[in-house]
Amino acid sequence: MQIRVQVTLVEGDQEEVHELGEFERGALSFETLGLTLEEGKTLLGRLQAVLIEEQVSRQLENVRPCPECGVQRRVKGHHHVLLHTVYGDVPVNSPRWWRCACATQSGTFSPLSSLMPEHTTPELLFLQTKWASMVSYGATVNLLEDVLPMGKTLNAETVRKHVHRVAQRAEEALGEEKTFFVDGCQQEWDALPMPNGPLTVGIEGGFVRAKGKGWFEVIAGKSILAFGRDQLEDQPSSKTFAFVTTHDQKPGRRLFEVLRSQGLQQNQTVTFMSDGGDNVRNLQLYLSPNAEHVLDWFHVTMRLTVLGQMAKGLPKDIEALKDVPERLERAKHHLWHGHVGQGCQELGDLETDLSSVLDRSRAELVCLRKMEKYVVEMIGYIGNNKAYMVNYGERYRAGERISTGFVESTVNQVISKRFVKKQSMNWTPRGAYLLLQIRTRVLNNELEDLFRQWYPAFRTAV
Ligand SMILES: [Zn+2]
Repeated sequence: MQIRVQVTLVEGDQEEVHELGEFERGALSFETLGLTLEEGKTLLGRLQAVLIEEQVSRQLENVRPCPECGVQRRVKGHHHVLLHTVYGDVPVNSPRWWRCACATQSGTFSPLSSLMPEHTTPELLFLQTKWASMVSYGATVNLLEDVLPMGKTLNAETVRKHVHRVAQRAEEALGEEKTFFVDGCQQEWDALPMPNGPLTVGIEGGFVRAKGKGWFEVIAGKSILAFGRDQLEDQPSSKTFAFVTTHDQKPGRRLFEVLRSQGLQQNQTVTFMSDGGDNVRNLQLYLSPNAEHVLDWFHVTMRLTVLGQMAKGLPKDIEALKDVPERLERAKHHLWHGHVGQGCQELGDLETDLSSVLDRSRAELVCLRKMEKYVVEMIGYIGNNKAYMVNYGERYRAGERISTGFVESTVNQVISKRFVKKQSMNWTPRGAYLLLQIRTRVLNNELEDLFRQWYPAFRTAV
């Protein structure tokens, strides 16, 4: 059987037929049942070329007469533009016309440049950007080439540039950075309508391998709304955000906008939970008047667990260190109930004993020295964050969050899966920062809306 595919353009009673392609089918085999991927790509590519050529030439015909006097504008010349679309690269003949004699301005202009300000269509730009936020730039190219009749010009570098351009454009739309986002006064806040449920924001640092050498810090987090008053769906709003500490100029604004997109009101409770790192802690201040700052219990207990492991390796024959596990338990108990002073006292006593044993002993007790150092660090950590330590036991019994286990998975989702999967992946802070802005938007399901702000007819029903 011979199959001929044509497209018919109908305008009034005029019909114009274009041949798209022809192929053959012999005896039925499973492999050639229906349209093959390659045939589909070829046909779509040709259809795209026909459609674009017709759309462009009709548009040019329509706008050729001068809007003032109706005289056809003269052609100065033309050049070819290669338009990159989801169904291949299509050459477009872009003319240059003389302005009409009746116009105030003289010279020439390009009638297509306002219609096609870029050479990649919004749909293709969207696909490249979206996929590149999930898999590597190279894998994005492979994926698109696998399923669509991509043009030969597509490569990983192009995709990277497009991602950066989209992210940069989104960044420019972000408001200015401030140190203080709280607005209004208590009286105004009291007059606000009943707010939505509390927001819990978990923030955590992670590391990404730098191009050249070393690592740099990336902060990721998630904001979860307990419930919305006028929301019918059970799924509460949950949004991720991320930035590169050394590069981001607007971390406060970024976080503030995330909270605002979840409907943050100044009379709404916001609980910030963090791992206690300085960068993370400073960021969350001044975003809301009803903010509560809590040191994530997970990070306290993680450090205690490390100490517990170290205690197992201590020499058994030292009297002063016989009850270290019990002492650690007591420290944990105090910290759990918000008795920070007593917890630190317990750890301080332990540190004293460890160092006095070290002083007396002539043997090189590596494990002891290591543990002593870690206890000192732990005391420093608690000291730095004591203002953010709460009665975890009481909160826990009241059913409130004491830990950002949900952030651990966010860091994994936002950073690890795309940035540190392979040892060979190296990043510049700027490259990581721009890609993160796309990635969090994709994870938050916001990229399509962003594109619609720039291209109003993008993916809307025709
Ligand atoms: Zn004119």
